[in-house]
Amino acid sequence: MNVEDSRQMMGLLKLLGCNQVDDVYQADIVILNTCSIRAKAEHKIYSELGRLKRLKEDKDLIICVAGCVAEQEEKSIIKRFPFVDIVMGPDQVGFLPELVTSCLKDRDTPPKKTYRKTGFQLKDDYQFLHVMPEQKEVSVKAFVNIQKGCDNFCAYCIVPHVRGREASRPSTQIIDEIKSLTQLGVREVTLLGQNVNSYGLKENNDITFAQLLERIASQTELKRLRFATSHPRDVSDALIEQFASNPILAPHFHLPLQSGSDRILKLMNRGYTRKHYLTIVEKLKKQNSHLCFSTDLIVGFPSETNQEFEDTLSVMKDVNFVQTYSFIYSPRPHTSAARMPDDVLLKEKQMRLKRLQDLDSEITLKQNHSDVGTVRYVLVEAVQQENQKPFMGRTEHNKIVHFTSKNVYHPGDFARVTISQANPHSLFGE
Ligand code: SAH
Ligand code: SF4
Repeated sequence: MNVEDSRQMMGLLKLLGCNQVDDVYQADIVILNTCSIRAKAEHKIYSELGRLKRLKEDKDLIICVAGCVAEQEEKSIIKRFPFVDIVMGPDQVGFLPELVTSCLKDRDTPPKKTYRKTGFQLKDDYQFLHVMPEQKEVSVKAFVNIQKGCDNFCAYCIVPHVRGREASRPSTQIIDEIKSLTQLGVREVTLLGQNVNSYGLKENNDITFAQLLERIASQTELKRLRFATSHPRDVSDALIEQFASNPILAPHFHLPLQSGSDRILKLMNRGYTRKHYLTIVEKLKKQNSHLCFSTDLIVGFPSETNQEFEDTLSVMKDVNFVQTYSFIYSPRPHTSAARMPDDVLLKEKQMRLKRLQDLDSEITLKQNHSDVGTVRYVLVEAVQQENQKPFMGRTEHNKIVHFTSKNVYHPGDFARVTISQANPHSLFGE
């Protein structure tokens, strides 16, 4: 989501005549688009700001802190880092050109001001940005925002506090954007939202998520469709059915589990049980036996016992996730879990993470080996003639494949690739 926000910020600045440079030393404006999902991500920003302070002593520079840390720590950023020129929350990206213009206009008239735009826009007034990439920036894949904010308030999560209330983008805007992207050469789109399954449910006048998937398939020229992220509680039967009937929907479902223990799921305020999660997986597999799953997991949530951690490992074995994103629990301000004692020792959390990641590697490697001998439908993303296997792309399951061919492929083409070899992170074939 931050990657897409950054792309939109870049697009907005281009309209002001700015160009992107690769080296921070050449820049006149530096934007840190920040993430505060875990404490580590937040702390990275503070050390980066220290470096930028020294740079600003040598050259005239506009420094903008954007994103979730800006929203969360507005006052303290202004106090601790007075050289920062702009502080802008994630709900206010559309104001970036205005903030930069004011800053440029006033920079020679002291005293120095910090321009700030944080807080949330009213749900009903929320305007989704529509910043199209230029032809030369287009790759074969793109992200499309369909929703902003989150209303779920999972006990550990800062997102609802820094991205505000959930709102869904009108379906006509989404479909128009996908049509324009396909005209520029985009083949695959990932729809983005914190909980895409509840798309449209809170607005009275729009369609459900399953209907949106259906319309994208029938009304656009898109070749492959993905989405992130889903909440297990809101997976409807209509969505499950899409995995059988929708011709462009990739058979890969990223379905965050967070924990395999019912007691921890309850404490996390996730609103489903382990059994419910496994039932959804079963129903989905029945609709489409090629479907694979990836997930997010947290270890060391307050009061998590070793047995409860083992419960998470056992779901991993049951589902055979092709990929897991796993994190050590990190207490975040404003969240309800931050009021619970963070009582699992860091050493224990680290050990659990290592065990989980070792199991993940084992399962992933096994899954990759089971692809050997099968034929995969690969979207070509890059061609490097000098390589032994010059073509690189991704399978329906989003696995990276390097392959050879007598044919010539270009980025954006699809190829049927017979998989001949597998390693933990990629596949090889011809
Ligand atoms: N909306 C998505 C993902 C949000 S953040 C969802 O509901 O799944 C991405 C992941 O970061 C989460 O799925 C969770 O696994 C992790 N995460 C969020 N807050 C965290 C915290 N305080 N400590 C550790 N991991 C966290
Ligand atoms: Fe955070 Fe839960 Fe919302 Fe995901 S669904 S963004 S984990 S509060």
